Amino acid sequence: MSEPILIGGEWKAGRGPDMVSVYPADGSENAVVAGASAADVDEAVARAKAAMAEPAWRDMKPHDRGSLLMRVSQLISDRAEDLARLQMRDNGKPIGETRALVASAAGTFRYYGAVAETMEEEITPSRGPFVSMSIYDPIGVVAAITPWNSPIASDAQKLAPALAAGCAVILKPAGVTPLVALELGRICEAAGVPKGIVSVLPGPGAVIGDALVTHPDIARVAFTGGTEVGRGIARQAAEKLMPVSLELGGKSPTIVFEDAQIDHAVNGVIFGIFSSSGESCIAGSRLFVHRKILDQFTEALVAKTVQLRIGDPAAETTQMGPLVSVSHREGIEKYVALGREEGGEILTGGARPEDGGYTNPAGGDFAYRDGSFYLPTIFTGLGNDARMVQEEIFGPVLAILPFEDEEDLIAQANDTVFGLACGLWTEDYCRAWRLARRIDAGTVWINTYKLFSIATPFGGLKDSGTGREKGRQGIRQYQEQKSLYWGMNEAPLGWAD
Ligand code: NAD
Repeated sequence: MSEPILIGGEWKAGRGPDMVSVYPADGSENAVVAGASAADVDEAVARAKAAMAEPAWRDMKPHDRGSLLMRVSQLISDRAEDLARLQMRDNGKPIGETRALVASAAGTFRYYGAVAETMEEEITPSRGPFVSMSIYDPIGVVAAITPWNSPIASDAQKLAPALAAGCAVILKPAGVTPLVALELGRICEAAGVPKGIVSVLPGPGAVIGDALVTHPDIARVAFTGGTEVGRGIARQAAEKLMPVSLELGGKSPTIVFEDAQIDHAVNGVIFGIFSSSGESCIAGSRLFVHRKILDQFTEALVAKTVQLRIGDPAAETTQMGPLVSVSHREGIEKYVALGREEGGEILTGGARPEDGGYTNPAGGDFAYRDGSFYLPTIFTGLGNDARMVQEEIFGPVLAILPFEDEEDLIAQANDTVFGLACGLWTEDYCRAWRLARRIDAGTVWINTYKLFSIATPFGGLKDSGTGREKGRQGIRQYQEQKSLYWGMNEAPLGWAD
């Protein structure tokens, strides 16, 4: 019997195809969810529109909206361990990582609760006998479309600011990872979000995503996912003149200078590419190393990579779990084969763990064969123009590339369609400042990697997307700015006399 979904305030079976959630560590089935259909989209959007017009939501005061979001945050924290385990089973990330994602989701709701309560509107300088002001209304019903790699965090990053702004949200999680999004729907209900304000519609992207994006009553789309899907959404949005934010793919450079603290840089590079099994938009997948330290750094990197603990996601010390699915692993294997054909040499990895054996964190035997595991893989000998180096793989595959000097580095690092993130490892802070300004990236980490704060905006340049999420201003993308002029004339307007 398939599980219900949240359509316009009611839990019921979607009328679309079933969505099967599989535990990637052993291939067992977690749940079957009755996925949404295009008719369910119509129903959810109509209910959302009606719920937004109800005084209970429309007239809710900012401090009450803030309290509501704080309650959502508290309920997430109260249920943190359950949610972390659910997320682990849905996409195979190690439990340590999914706990951090749940804490991030709770923090996001707490932060936007505070933003809802404290965000101000503006009195603008008066240029005549009037008082002028800028106020912000909710933009309307929002479609939040999210990928499978960090669902609870990316769902929260869209839901919380949209609710803070007074919008209704139709959340469409990836078909392979529907479970946490549905739980977030239950939590919003339990916190007191009025019925119809949040719907959760798992379903096939091309059908549900398309029905949402083209729906006349969807006022905004907040999308996180692949670049080609994002490009298609932007085209459809242009037809409707609808604003969209697009958080898309990446192929981020990590750069190690000859003066870097080598042990810090080795750990940072490994964390940057192999945490989340490389299934991360900001994975530092192109490693540029100054030629002077190339051999020394490569040796240290490989030595540490082969010690990574791969295996049972439920074991506390696991660093890498399985990939999200067997079919995703096949895609990665094709890229590894391509890298070989393009002349690359594999220094470690390039295979499934059952073929080579690896450190199992839980100790004893672990049936790698049942899950979609893949070894951390390091390539050398490829040019920056190789397809393996240029295209997003979204897996644990790193290419090492040498550079000669700053100009050579900037030319190579920016020679990509993407512009999401960058890591710089150097002790020379003047150089770090210079380069951080010149590298095409929405986020630059200096002597660290993959650290995040909900208070700091995030987004990409070039094919990595458009728009920024997070930060206080993050609420504004879900609002429409409106100008008011209050006449202060003591006499009638003179022109008509
Ligand atoms: P995807 O683009 O295939 O799917 C993302 C979401 O869009 C899913 O919910 C999917 O069902 C839906 N979708 C698919 N086709 C659609 C269509 N035609 N119209 C509307 N929606 C549609 O991406 P994925 O495989 O789930 O996730 C991996 C990608 O996400 C990678 O490229 C990764 O870099 C990117 N990503 C980016 C960020 C970021 O913040 N920049 C964060 C995480 C992941």
